[in-house]
Amino acid sequence: MAGLYIHIPFCRSRCIYCDFYSTTLPPAWQMPYVEALGREMVLQGQGASGKGKEFTSLYLGGGTPSQLTPEALRRLFFHISQHVRLAPDAEVTIEANPDDVTPQWVALLRETPVNRVSMGVQSLDDDILRTLRRRHTASQAIKAVGLLQKAGYANLSLDLIYGLPGQTLRQFTTDVRRVLALGIPHLSAYALQFEEGTPLYRMRSEGSISEADEELSLSCYQRLIDLAQEAGMEHYEISNFARRDFRSRHNSSYWNDSPYTGLGAGAHSYDPQARRRSFNCEDVERYIQSIDAGQLPAETERLDDDTRYNERVMLRLRTCEGLSLTDVERDFGTERRRYCERMARPHLLAGRVQKKAGEALCLTRQGLFVSDDIISDLMV
Ligand code: SF4
Repeated sequence: MAGLYIHIPFCRSRCIYCDFYSTTLPPAWQMPYVEALGREMVLQGQGASGKGKEFTSLYLGGGTPSQLTPEALRRLFFHISQHVRLAPDAEVTIEANPDDVTPQWVALLRETPVNRVSMGVQSLDDDILRTLRRRHTASQAIKAVGLLQKAGYANLSLDLIYGLPGQTLRQFTTDVRRVLALGIPHLSAYALQFEEGTPLYRMRSEGSISEADEELSLSCYQRLIDLAQEAGMEHYEISNFARRDFRSRHNSSYWNDSPYTGLGAGAHSYDPQARRRSFNCEDVERYIQSIDAGQLPAETERLDDDTRYNERVMLRLRTCEGLSLTDVERDFGTERRRYCERMARPHLLAGRVQKKAGEALCLTRQGLFVSDDIISDLMV
């Protein structure tokens, strides 16, 4: 498995909690950016001659990919068709903001190989959406799902956030029930984070917004798990739920230590065999200039064994398959396996971790609620 990620950093406005790399530069920047993406595809070696590796998933993330003008989106897929080798059954996802999903946009999407849409709904409470400075309303989000489903896009994923200012357990329960009633096959839900440098972080420091208490966040998470499972979804990763055959293949490649290539300003690439991760610069103008000059605007980090082991623990313990001790021994040696087992023992005895298939460490339901502590105990 290998994934290709393309970062589209354009947003019409900024949400107060967001710390992803994105910019509100005007649409005039989009075509030069897309042309630079086409050149980066060539520079990164995904040549048109079929020599490039085959990708099993393509993910257009952001930013807001649905903010691309029709010309820019068509041109991006032209470059992809010229320079990228996609597996015949590749999962092709685009992130969309609900208010961009119009009949015209859905018709445009049908010209492309996109077969999965991921939408940041976050909440179905208009007051909360306004507080977060989301551009859409709850009814726009629901309408967007209907439009996509009517056009044949069954593979939809929605994102929710819990632990929001002003949110109650009752309100969040209603949100989850309404979202599940839409018949979507994939749901992601994250606890609100107060990331340094965001307006939300500043507002908390100034006292104009208060953080939901931990108990409420925990209750929301418990309720989410119950409702998603009642609706027939598998809880396959700490923050992700899917119906059978609808797990995110692209995100699974991150959790499974598979290689991925990231194109665009702020995108990351990972090559487990070469033990290397690289990061493109987070600046559209600098990115275009560097690509124009024939240089990848990337910094590279060599990953030592401890870093790779820590990442393995963090990513695998988040999944329902868990952390394979056989794999730990194969990749990091017998000593590291022993260390891992020793550190997991108190959690196994307390019922926070269980062994699956006799050898993989998995979080139990009790363990899910203290996952950060368990993960940090198993790290070096
Ligand atoms: S639309 Fe998405 S990427 Fe843009 S500011 Fe909001 S959360 Fe961040």
